[in-house]
Amino acid sequence: MSRPGPRGLELGLNSTKASPRRRLMPLPNLSPLPQTPPHQQTPPQPQPARPRRPTPASRESVTFGVLTFKDKSYNCIPTELLDVGVVGEGAFGTVNKMVHKESNTHMAVKRVHVTVDESEMKRLNMDLDVIRKSNCAYIVKFYGVLFGEGYVWICMEMMDTSMDKLYQLVYKTLGQQIPERIIGKINASVVNALQYLKDTLKIIHRDVKPSNILLDLQGNVKLCDFGISGHLRDSIARTKDEGCRPYMSPERIQGVQTYDVRSDVWSLGLSLIELATGQFPYREWKTVFDQLSQVVHGDPPQLPTEDGRFSPFFEDFVASCLVKDPEKRPKYKELMMHPFYQKHANSDIDIGGWYQAILAQARSSKA
Ligand code: ATP
Ligand code: MG
Repeated sequence: MSRPGPRGLELGLNSTKASPRRRLMPLPNLSPLPQTPPHQQTPPQPQPARPRRPTPASRESVTFGVLTFKDKSYNCIPTELLDVGVVGEGAFGTVNKMVHKESNTHMAVKRVHVTVDESEMKRLNMDLDVIRKSNCAYIVKFYGVLFGEGYVWICMEMMDTSMDKLYQLVYKTLGQQIPERIIGKINASVVNALQYLKDTLKIIHRDVKPSNILLDLQGNVKLCDFGISGHLRDSIARTKDEGCRPYMSPERIQGVQTYDVRSDVWSLGLSLIELATGQFPYREWKTVFDQLSQVVHGDPPQLPTEDGRFSPFFEDFVASCLVKDPEKRPKYKELMMHPFYQKHANSDIDIGGWYQAILAQARSSKA
């Protein structure tokens, strides 16, 4: 991945307005800054703080960003975080497990190489307010963003795994399948998350796929990489060739500007097939034209029906997500009326117990 150009954020991280031009040293060479004695620290804000405009007294103390844990906000620079190691790698950077030392909060930090200008930073900060205030059991908690020159660090709740890793473990390593009841429960959580994003936060996710569906050891299923990442994606897309985006709906591939949540419903349909079969449903695309011809002009994928492995409800749910005409594809309210959703949404399926059993089998197969 090529490094972005030199046009980075000028410091001003305490402010969303233009501030005195001070340069932020590039990561990871940030030198530690003097800690503010406890009695001089800013008291907790009633609402999570956005990066503040520096006062003369604080002008020399660089604030890299603000992290908020349990309604308490901390000005933070990377040296206040302990890097425990990489947990995953995406197309635009790595995700590391880190500990915020002062509050002893473990978090996942997605480090993206991207250059955001002043107006994009403003927009991100506006989104942050909305996302920070959100409270939904089906989306990962968002702690804040640290901005640097050529970098953005997105700090969020640390989960145990993602669905892409999980299905590879189940299908490839253990040679098993993910049971339909587990997929049904995962699906209900994802639909709940998407509906919350749309109804409460007014966000379309735009990047629904197995790697953005996370799971913890208790069996909580949560969606990540929405909103802010979506805007970052726009910034990245302007500087890099994003290549094929495999989960994109036919209308988005065709460049329709006014797509809506039904585009995410398409991506959900593909993700469900992947979880149910252990494979991405399209064959590999060599070019975007290849993708265009298969997704836009070919038949939509479906769950394999031959061996009766899946219930007709599941098959029908997936088929309705993968209707090519977006006008005929359901939105979330309709999906929530579907028997496949209804059956699993309120069931007490123990995903955590199942997942821990899978981990135990994986451990013993290694031994
Ligand atoms: P893309 O770069 O195309 O968006 P991606 O979703 O795989 O793909 P990242 O979002 O960078 O890329 O995530 C990389 C991996 O990091 C994921 O596959 C997931 O396993 C892991 N990961 C991401 N966020 C978390 C989190 N909050 N908790 C635990 N693991 C995470
Ligand atoms: Mg992701």
